[in-house]
Amino acid sequence: MDFDRELDAIASYMKSGGKAVALTGAGISVDSGIPDFRSEGGLWARFDPMEYATIDAFRRDPKRVWEMVFELEETVLNARPNEAHYALAELEKRGLLEAVITQNIDGLHQLAGSREVIEFHGSAARLVCLRCESRVPAKEIARCPPEPPICRCGGIYKPDIVFFGEAIPPAAVAAASYWASHCRLMLIIGTSALVSPASEIPVAALGAGALLVEANLGPTPLSALCAHRIEGSAVTTLPALVAAL
Ligand SMILES: [Zn+2]
Repeated sequence: MDFDRELDAIASYMKSGGKAVALTGAGISVDSGIPDFRSEGGLWARFDPMEYATIDAFRRDPKRVWEMVFELEETVLNARPNEAHYALAELEKRGLLEAVITQNIDGLHQLAGSREVIEFHGSAARLVCLRCESRVPAKEIARCPPEPPICRCGGIYKPDIVFFGEAIPPAAVAAASYWASHCRLMLIIGTSALVSPASEIPVAALGAGALLVEANLGPTPLSALCAHRIEGSAVTTLPALVAAL
């Protein structure tokens, strides 16, 4: 793989009007200090997701699940966007990127300035009350660990992320499917997009005639479907792409 040649090919396609959509995953936020939950030092190494991240577990014993949530919030709510997040915001500003579909729950795309962000798995930057369903910015609600935060209505707050056993928000599914069928290029960043239903997004884009481009550390199961690949961490590859445009 010749990095510069791949980069030039992607850049000239984008400049020629091949409007792009990005699909991002854990890899883009690693350099913001958020390890992939599924990696060795990740959250799921210490908290079995089947015990701590299912909606049934939350309803049964919210206080126990909040042990995990307090730790997750500690990492995620203090994180700052990195050069890769800023690069995508810059591409959108220049009219070269239509939207970011993210599997991440860290809210870093919005903090970097991206406007059209589809949060496939929700966001830890918000809390949702399980009783009245109101949503509030997570940072506005006081915490008294180990007690879960409580809404004014008396209901228990849950981070507004998609727990196992919960459906992907229908608006996110609809928006992702719209962009998959309307983009000319899908930039897949920091994800092997193996987990369904997010895994269906690149396949749908390909089926609709879009070019798939991958920016990952190395080859993934998606590589065979991609017209171009740039290898490296997202903080390297995305600023290089912006520079090539
Ligand atoms: Zn409430």
